[in-house]
Amino acid sequence: MNKLFTKVGVVVFTVASLLFTVASPAQTPAKNYAIVIHGGAGFINEGNTSKEKRAAYTQALNSALEAGYSVLENGGSAVDAVVAAIKIMEDNPLFNAGKGSVLTADGKVEMDASVMDGKSLRAGAVAGLTTIKNPVTAARFVMDSSQHVFMIGSGAEEFARKMQCESVNPEYFITPERRKSFERLRQQKDNATAILEPVVTNPEFKFGTVGAVALDKFGNLAAATSTGGMSNKKFGRVGDVAVIGAGTYANNKTCAISCTGWGEFFIRLVMAKTVSDKMEYQQLSLEDASNEMIHRVLPGMGGNGGLIGIDKNGNVVMPFCTEGMFRAFKKSSGEKQVLMF
Ligand code: ASP
Repeated sequence: MNKLFTKVGVVVFTVASLLFTVASPAQTPAKNYAIVIHGGAGFINEGNTSKEKRAAYTQALNSALEAGYSVLENGGSAVDAVVAAIKIMEDNPLFNAGKGSVLTADGKVEMDASVMDGKSLRAGAVAGLTTIKNPVTAARFVMDSSQHVFMIGSGAEEFARKMQCESVNPEYFITPERRKSFERLRQQKDNATAILEPVVTNPEFKFGTVGAVALDKFGNLAAATSTGGMSNKKFGRVGDVAVIGAGTYANNKTCAISCTGWGEFFIRLVMAKTVSDKMEYQQLSLEDASNEMIHRVLPGMGGNGGLIGIDKNGNVVMPFCTEGMFRAFKKSSGEKQVLMF
């Protein structure tokens, strides 16, 4: 009798361990993968964007999305995918990142960028860059090839050049459109008050930052963000984009987040990490956590903007409390959207 029990026990144990092996996520790479991108939030609506402009943004978002997606499709990492998507938007003058960045009060371009790997919780960030063509690649080198997380100004540029990041003349970043918009903004404000007074109803006021979050085939999450910051910024101002936990955060346990909006509020709210914390410690879904922050807490404090997020199961969110936000996602299930308002 005892022997029979032992035999049954062995069979049950073997079947159970077989089932466990098949179901264990460590052994089975996640099949679903996805990427989400944004091209900034702000005063964007059907009335103030021409048909041609909308078509140009759709095309630009689409090519960045597809570039990131194909990295994932080919088995690349979430970090590679978000960097690939962002580089394309940095090179496109439509967005406020890399070429096409907004101008500071001194009429210059100063860019911030960051990246975070949700698997290792490693991160890299740079601020106040003036000559590095793709700031997101500099942030990535900080993450991968330095012992630091955050580098600024001339030191960050020196490091990026040592890492073979392409550098360009600062004039490269300034487009005629940004120059005109800068002149118009300057006429509306005198020098003393023109620090940071974003008014969401001002047609000049679009955030335009770019960001990407992704889940790769192996269940790893990553986030990256890049920006020229806020128009007319002064005194070496750095926004949320370069602050890990504020504008960018990724953790395989919860989600990956990239933000866009009035950076001072995102820093004070530690926006991206707070969404992750709400998931980890309050057991909220990504949707509930990000809606609470973007639709209740952020406007409640007087700020505005939006974020994109993806969780470890591939659920995607893109909430914003401005008129519009350039955004898009593509999932391995075949679902895809490119949206503005
Ligand atoms: N968050 C950015 C900043 O404050 C601006 C943006 O999202 O466009 O620098």
